[in-house]
Amino acid sequence: MPFCCDYDALTLYKSGEFNTKYKTVLTEKVCEIEREILDEQEIESFLNGEYKTYITTEEIVLYRIFGEYKSKIEESVKGARNIGRFLSTEFAESPIDAKIRLALNPTWKNIRMYEAKVLVPKDIKISVGVVAPIYTTDNTKFEGGADQVYISEAWDEKWVVGYRRLSSRQIHTVPKYPLKDPGIIILNETHKSVCPMCCDINTVDLREDEQFTVLGSKGGVYTMKKHCLNEDCGYYW
Ligand SMILES: [Zn+2]
Repeated sequence: MPFCCDYDALTLYKSGEFNTKYKTVLTEKVCEIEREILDEQEIESFLNGEYKTYITTEEIVLYRIFGEYKSKIEESVKGARNIGRFLSTEFAESPIDAKIRLALNPTWKNIRMYEAKVLVPKDIKISVGVVAPIYTTDNTKFEGGADQVYISEAWDEKWVVGYRRLSSRQIHTVPKYPLKDPGIIILNETHKSVCPMCCDINTVDLREDEQFTVLGSKGGVYTMKKHCLNEDCGYYW
């Protein structure tokens, strides 16, 4: 029996319910120092403007969600870069969950297509607090609530261990980061589907005659339309 999606078993969880179980715990990996003075705007991005500053005493794993893009006609690049000052101790559960947990303002045009896993070396200054909620221009509230790590010095791209494409579906397994730097995304180009199980983009859309149906655990019937070619995975969905 191939490894197929059981759509009946896919239940939505609350933002932060899954990833906080796996987040990087900084205690004993950092040493508190005198608080770094940040700009007003940066201070406001922390809940109640509260943050503490530390020096890392060993390597720590952080995550950064990003996406840079340009249209085919315009030359200017918009969006968020892979290396940036704001990171988090938790990986993204989905682009929507990340938008809520990290309170990503739409005006920043971060298209949340990729996530970098970053290994911050020892002896780096970081400021840490909780992401403050924001209200968008149409008065939608993004809750925030993730741990926010701010690195004021320009950091090295070599700290990135790997990248992954985000799946629009909430993840249920700890993500892997199989990709190299994805670079700038050209809008209107078609992108390969990302495997919701292993995050690989080595996937195919099944032709109609290759598609098949499976029975879900609650009796639902589902057609498998996509297949992951990663040999360690082989997921159908
Ligand atoms: Zn896969």
